[in-house]
Amino acid sequence: MFPLFGNCSFLFFFLFFFCFLPRLCFPTKITAGQATVITTDDHNATWHNFTRFKDAEKGSHVSCISELKKYFQQFGYLSIPNNQNHNFTDVFDAQFESAVVSYQQKFELSITGKLDSETILTIMSPRCGVSDISPTIHATKHFAYFYGRPRWDRGSSMTLMYAFSSTDMIDYISLPKIKTVFKRSFSKWASVIPVNFTEIDNYSSANIRIGFFRGNHGDGQPFDGVLGVLAHAFSPENGRFHLDKDETWAIDFEKVKSKTAIDLESVATHEIGHILGLAHSSIKEAVMYPSLKPRSRKVNLKLDDVEGIQALYGSNPNFKYSSLLAYENSYNKAINLNQRSCSWTFSIVVVVFFSLFMIT
Ligand SMILES: [Zn+2]
Ligand SMILES: [Zn+2]
Repeated sequence: MFPLFGNCSFLFFFLFFFCFLPRLCFPTKITAGQATVITTDDHNATWHNFTRFKDAEKGSHVSCISELKKYFQQFGYLSIPNNQNHNFTDVFDAQFESAVVSYQQKFELSITGKLDSETILTIMSPRCGVSDISPTIHATKHFAYFYGRPRWDRGSSMTLMYAFSSTDMIDYISLPKIKTVFKRSFSKWASVIPVNFTEIDNYSSANIRIGFFRGNHGDGQPFDGVLGVLAHAFSPENGRFHLDKDETWAIDFEKVKSKTAIDLESVATHEIGHILGLAHSSIKEAVMYPSLKPRSRKVNLKLDDVEGIQALYGSNPNFKYSSLLAYENSYNKAINLNQRSCSWTFSIVVVVFFSLFMIT
């Protein structure tokens, strides 16, 4: 009735699948996510003492945990308390627990609602100063927009002018080199949407105004010294693009040996996303993920970044998804693509073996 079971070809069939199919299904080269910032770098003075909150539990009174609540409020996970003096308490309450859960969701961490080591290390990681969540944020898939989904509107063939401050810059990287980095970052976005970027000299009349600032610099969002917040930029059509002058900015890690060096091009590419209207993505590999590890680079737009920005501006007529996919090193994407080829491989093998079986 089932001659297959009495046939050694069945055994061969099984051996073939169990021995070789895994190689067909999964690529030997899966690029791991490059962006998750889990660092115990002692140089991160800004949030380093948050380690003392590790394993704090709901319901307990934790000395100075109000400082951590302020951090959560700074990045959009908690609102300012409604009490008399608007100060956070040191109680690990249910509201704080739900903020921790939201944070873990945004950063693709294990959802525990607890201050486990993975969560604490991520909280301490250097990051962008732009808030992750607003109460009415418009979020779709994994990319996100600012409230009201603002975008630049200058007609169909849009050109945005950018300029560098003549006074608020850094002097240890030459201006031509800084300009080359920014030109490359702008061109990444220009290649996927119908928007051009042109550098001009007149800072005050430029659409996008780029400068390096230290500490309190007049926009209500002071920088915090080495690491911590690295930069911030404002949503359309504001155009302010600020980098923390206290960071060790680098364009070549071969020449800059500092443990806290931050890649200028990676941050420039990320902040341009904000300038254009993208908020933070929860995809670790995306350029719009909020944090960036020192001495790491993330300069190529990922599918999530491209889908987000094209939903705002449409596609550049010259953009080809195939060219993006050549750069796409998202782990999930790699798995999905290879699962597809796996199912094809599986089908072909089944057909071949079934044919052989019928012939014999
Ligand atoms: Zn950001
Ligand atoms: Zn600023």
